[in-house]
Amino acid sequence: MSSLEVRGRLVMDGSVVTGRIRIEDEWISGVDLDDDPAGPRPARTDDGGEGALPLIAPGLVDIHVHGWGGHAAMGSTDDLDGMARSLLRRGVTSFLPTAVTAPLGDLRAFADRVRVWIPRSARDGAGPLGFNLEGPFLAPERKGAHNPDHLARPGDTAWAEIEPLVDGLRLITIAPELDGALELIRRLAGLGVRVSLGHSATEIATAHAGYDAGATATTHLFNAMSGVVHRHPGLAVAALTRDDAYVELIADREHVDPALWPIVRRMKPRDRLILISDALALAGTGDGRMSLGGLEVEVRGTRCTLPDGTLAGSVIAIDTAVRNMVAEGMDLVDAVAAASRNPLAMLGIEDRGRLAEGQRADLVELDGDLEVRGVMRSGAWLGS
Ligand SMILES: [Zn+2]
Repeated sequence: MSSLEVRGRLVMDGSVVTGRIRIEDEWISGVDLDDDPAGPRPARTDDGGEGALPLIAPGLVDIHVHGWGGHAAMGSTDDLDGMARSLLRRGVTSFLPTAVTAPLGDLRAFADRVRVWIPRSARDGAGPLGFNLEGPFLAPERKGAHNPDHLARPGDTAWAEIEPLVDGLRLITIAPELDGALELIRRLAGLGVRVSLGHSATEIATAHAGYDAGATATTHLFNAMSGVVHRHPGLAVAALTRDDAYVELIADREHVDPALWPIVRRMKPRDRLILISDALALAGTGDGRMSLGGLEVEVRGTRCTLPDGTLAGSVIAIDTAVRNMVAEGMDLVDAVAAASRNPLAMLGIEDRGRLAEGQRADLVELDGDLEVRGVMRSGAWLGS
């Protein structure tokens, strides 16, 4: 048995408290908080002594990510390892490789590849939790950067075509207004798959019907969906006003103007916000071009676009999203939860995401600027 201790300013469920985490093998065996008569410290004060201690947060989680570091989720198993390694270096300890819309046969091949890869995935990479399908059941009017040739309608798709995708499928985006969508949402939710409403042009009643049928989440709030229009409320209004609905947010400052972020913060319960990267394989590689599901995309700086200017996905990692949210006034504790505990809770995964006894020892060490300085996965520091 190996054991070690990590001391720092610990990002706990409701506050940041100085203390130490005891780790035995892959698990947190205990957390000892310092007596602190002054109560929880503000997250980012620099008070000399204790301020010099690093922040220790739960490992970050990205449930919607199409690739990173030059490696595509829909590529080979070597690409999956490359993506996982790139993500871990950015503090992501768990993730869902996420497919874009493709022919169902290609999606089945993707699912098979991920299933075979998961038990063999690299120990020095982020841990896969299953996979995510963004498509093919998306509304053509809100297809975003998804290839329209491969969009499908649930009502036209036999269950025998979909059933082979279910094993390992943790999350799928469905537009609730499509023919047969509500029935498919009910069926998948009954099998334990989480359904996220998105890429949708729906009016609000059908959005509510989608959540009522069993959808729990909302794919990249505001992007590729009917929005907040005062006489034509759409999916975004249902997502914002239902306390039970989780919402994903791409906090890269490009997909949703930060002027809107306080609307999300004030409307959603703090445990219902999920930060995602929606990153493409080009993320982390600088400016360039690539093919995404048969469509050409180009990266310049922080923008990744189709030739017509449509945003195609992001080039950030989740740590950037946390920094951006905090810079725009979000409490650090809430921003970290949105990038760790909340997505895990949405997926029903309880063995990680908190600094507490019995949790998997997945940690990220952050400096005063919230830059990633160290990453521990399953009790082992990256690089040790
Ligand atoms: Zn996406």
